[in-house]
Amino acid sequence: MLDERLISEIVASVVKSTMGSPNKQKGVFPTMSEALAAVDKAYKQYRSYSIEQREKMIAKIRELTLAEAENMAKLGVEETGMGRVSDKIIKHQLVANKTPGTEDLHPTAMSGDAGLTLIEMAPYGVIGSITPSTNPSETVICNSIGMIAGGNGVVFNPHPNACKTANYAVDLVNRAILEAGGPENLVVTVENPTKESSDEMMASPIVKMLVATGGPGVVKALLSSGKKAIGAGAGNPPVIVDDTADIEKAGRDIVLGASFDNNLPCIAEKECFVFDNVADKLISSMQKNGAYLIKGDQIDKLVKTCLVEKNGKYSINKDWVGRDASKFLKAIGIEADARLVIAEVPNDHPFVYVEMMMPVLGIVRVKDIDEAIELACKAEHGNRHSAHIHSKNVDHLTRFAKAVETTIFVKNAPSYAGIGAGGEGYTTFTIAGPTGEGLTAAHSFTRQRRCVLVDGFHIV
Ligand code: NAD
Repeated sequence: MLDERLISEIVASVVKSTMGSPNKQKGVFPTMSEALAAVDKAYKQYRSYSIEQREKMIAKIRELTLAEAENMAKLGVEETGMGRVSDKIIKHQLVANKTPGTEDLHPTAMSGDAGLTLIEMAPYGVIGSITPSTNPSETVICNSIGMIAGGNGVVFNPHPNACKTANYAVDLVNRAILEAGGPENLVVTVENPTKESSDEMMASPIVKMLVATGGPGVVKALLSSGKKAIGAGAGNPPVIVDDTADIEKAGRDIVLGASFDNNLPCIAEKECFVFDNVADKLISSMQKNGAYLIKGDQIDKLVKTCLVEKNGKYSINKDWVGRDASKFLKAIGIEADARLVIAEVPNDHPFVYVEMMMPVLGIVRVKDIDEAIELACKAEHGNRHSAHIHSKNVDHLTRFAKAVETTIFVKNAPSYAGIGAGGEGYTTFTIAGPTGEGLTAAHSFTRQRRCVLVDGFHIV
C-alpha cells in the first residue's frame, strides 16, 4: 500500500529543490556568496547574446516598470516612510521612458593609410552596485537598464532600510529578462543587505566594477576599494533668483522642484538665494503655489524637530527625511496642507548648509549677484553636484555656472528638468560628480577595446 503522506512530502521536496519556493523573488539570494555565484554564471551565458537580444530584454523591463510603477511607488513609501506616491510614480515612468539602452553605445573608427582601427565599448563583466534609500527601485531599474545595455551582469547591495522595494525591482527586472528570453539571475541581490555583504561584494574577484549612489561615506568606501569605481555622491543644490527673472514662474518652479517627492532627489533645490528687491514677490508666488511661510519661533521649533545639534553643528534627524510638509507644520503646531515649508533665514542657518532632503526650504536675501554666487557656492560645499538659477541675464547665468562647477545646472525651470523631466536629455538616478562620469548611462558601464587591422578595410 502507498503511503500518501510520504508521497506528497517527497513531491513537495522535489518541487522545492527544482523550482524553489513558489513565492521566491527572482534574483534575490539569502547570501552574497550565492548571489555572486549566480550572476557569474549568468554573465558567462550573457556574453553570447546579441545587441538585439539585449534590447528585447530592456524593452520588457521598460514595459513592466510602467505597469508596476504604482506598486513600487507605494511599496517605497510604505517601507521607508519617505516621499510621495504620486511623485514616485512619475520617477518610475521617467526611468522606464528615458533611461538610454544600447543606442547609447557608439563605436568609433580611425581609418587611414595604415588600415582600420575600431574602438568598441565592451562590457566590464559583473558590476557591483550600492543603491540609496531615497530612490530604491528607481535606481535599481535605471542601473539595470544601463548596465545590461552595456553587456554586463549586476549584483546589488541595496540600502537595508529600503531593500524590500529595491529587491522587488530586482525581481521585476529578472521577470522581464526571462520573459524576453534572457538568462536567469543576470541581476541579483541579497535578501538582507548588510555592511558585511557590501564588503564581500566589493572584495569579490567576480566583481569588476563598482558603482555607488549615496552620501559621502559610501563614495569614500568605494574609492578605497582598489577597483574601477563610479561614485555618485551627495549634493546640496542652491537656487539663485535675480531681479531679471520671471518671478511668478520662478516661485512656482522652485516649489515644484523642492517639493517633488518631498525633496528626496539629490538634484532638488535645497536652499534659495534671492535678490532683496524681488524677495517679497518670490515668496508670495511660492505661497500661491503650495508653500507655507513660517517665521520667528516657528523656525526655531522646526530646527529642533528635524535637525540634531552637536557642538554647534547641525545634522539631519533621519526620522524626518522625506516626510510630508504638513507633518512638519503639525509638529510646530500648525494645521495646514502644504507641499513645501519655506522660511527666511540668514546664510549661516542649518536650513541652508545641511543637505536635509525634507520639504523645507531656507530663503536668504542677497543684495546682488556677487553675494548670491558667493553664498550659493559656499552652501553647495564644493560637491559640484547640482545648482539652479532663475534669471534672464546671460552674464549672471554664465558667471554662476562657471563658479559653481556642478554636474547639473538648470536655468529657468524646476530642478528635475536636469534629469530629463521637462528638459531635453536622457535620465539617470546615478549622477557621478566625484568620479566625473556625470549623468551615467550605458556608455559609463563599458570599457573601450581597440581592434587594429593593418593594410586592410581602408577602402577610399
Ligand atoms: P546613504 O549614504 O546613507 O546610503 C547609500 C548607500 O550606501 C546604502 O546602500 C548604504 O547602505 C550604503 N553605505 C553607506 N555608508 C556606507 C559605507 N561606509 N560603506 C558601504 N556602504 C555604505 O544615503 P541615502 O540616505 O540612502 O541616500 C541619500 C544620499 O544619497 C544623499 O546624500 C543624496 O544626495 C545621495 N544621492 C546621490 C545621488 C546621485 O546620483 N549623486 C542619487 C541619489 C542619492
